[in-house]
Amino acid sequence: MTEIDPQLADRYATVSQGIAEACRSAGRSIDEITTVVVTKFHPASLIEQLAAMGVTDVGENRHQDAAPKAAALAALPLTWHFVGQLQSNKARAVTEYARVIHSVDRSSLVTALAKVERPIDVFLEVNLTDDSARGGVEPGEVLRLAETVLVVPTLRLLGVMAVAPLDEPARAAFGRLRAISDELRALAPHASQISAGMSGDYAEAIAEGATHLRIGAAITGKRPAQP
Ligand SMILES: *Cc1c(COP(=O)(O)O)cnc(C)c1O
Repeated sequence: MTEIDPQLADRYATVSQGIAEACRSAGRSIDEITTVVVTKFHPASLIEQLAAMGVTDVGENRHQDAAPKAAALAALPLTWHFVGQLQSNKARAVTEYARVIHSVDRSSLVTALAKVERPIDVFLEVNLTDDSARGGVEPGEVLRLAETVLVVPTLRLLGVMAVAPLDEPARAAFGRLRAISDELRALAPHASQISAGMSGDYAEAIAEGATHLRIGAAITGKRPAQP
């Protein structure tokens, strides 16, 4: 039996309640929401506890950190999501364990993922900041990038993903993401999911239609330093 840290269980219960409340105020069903618990830099033992608590989806952002944990925990019924910047030369290795990639932001990465034979679910990461050096495709380029995904039979386009910029209210940024999602849906009706919302802004994301929350510290506690 996995022993569960009571503080971890408390934090998970608090966030689950917060999600339920945000869904109520947005008039949405909690069944529309997938909570991905971002476990980056935490040990496999923490992920084991999350699985014992009923968590089904976990997220990682660095291949070197994620791969050994995913291998050690392969027997657990978990869906692994990759949420970090992905180098094309690591794309295949990441898909050995990750079934969902949230960070597709350029056509060279689509080309690399297209060479993997198994089905992969992908989100297009959109840059909502004014800084084009940040991760994510520019809003005006989303449809063009989507078209490169839609022609690959093994890639299933789920929708759009973003991180809210620090210098504006999250709700406004997620409102823009929702408008981009509407444009994408006009091109690809099935690509209706929105990956948005972290520890500090998941309620705003839910209010703007998020379907996949990526929540780290509010559930896991403070992250260990980056290795
Ligand atoms: C770390 C991370 C998260 C989770 O952030 P918290 O603030 O700890 O909830 C979400 N999305 C991405 C892309 C991340 O890298």
